Amino acid sequence: MAATVLVVEDETKIRDLVRRYLERDGLAVLTTGSGAEALMMLETQSVDLIVLDLNLPDVSGEAVATEVRSRSVIPILMLTAKSAEVDRIRGLELGADDYLTKPFSPRELVLRVQAVLRRSRSVVGADAATAFGEGTLIIDEDRHDLIVRGQSVGLTPTEWALLVALTGAPGRVFSRSELINRLRGYEFDGYERTVDSHVKNLRRKIEFDPHEPAIVETILGVGYRLGLRRDA
Ligand code: CA
Repeated sequence: MAATVLVVEDETKIRDLVRRYLERDGLAVLTTGSGAEALMMLETQSVDLIVLDLNLPDVSGEAVATEVRSRSVIPILMLTAKSAEVDRIRGLELGADDYLTKPFSPRELVLRVQAVLRRSRSVVGADAATAFGEGTLIIDEDRHDLIVRGQSVGLTPTEWALLVALTGAPGRVFSRSELINRLRGYEFDGYERTVDSHVKNLRRKIEFDPHEPAIVETILGVGYRLGLRRDA
């Protein structure tokens, strides 16, 4: 079954262009120009990914993202007209999986959408649950389940991909650019601080004390590593 993408964008021209490209790529597309309507649509429709314009006339894209994140881990790709890096990082802090700055190439958008969808589906075909840190963290790639200190935790596809990369090689230090390429699924000259934002969000969900992280450790000047050992 085709994945369904909800495009939230008030500029008709961009909305139609995005719809055309996504549909040509075999995706089912729903559209709206209103943030409030988008939230209502999410109540009744099954959506696999949201393409969300940050600058909407009614409810801001930020507010929509925050609302979506408060109830689900559905992937969000943000569109922003603001090119300052600080705005991109802000989008990621709100829990967006990726962002594109306008003007963007529709082909690039399709690639990003595919990469995020692939991430959220890369759950099939892996082994059974693996435990780390004497059961502190249990990850089941097949079922897309994460248990931290006995509690089930929901991650966005990007946070999930980040954790899967780190748990794939406990103790190994991953550089930021290495992680960026893992996250996107293809080579991309990304901003390294993007990774820091995702790590921050991930830590907020899984660390006992996000200020003293013990699971995702920072290696100064190098990158990140899993601070837990794989259980035998
Ligand atoms: Ca707009």
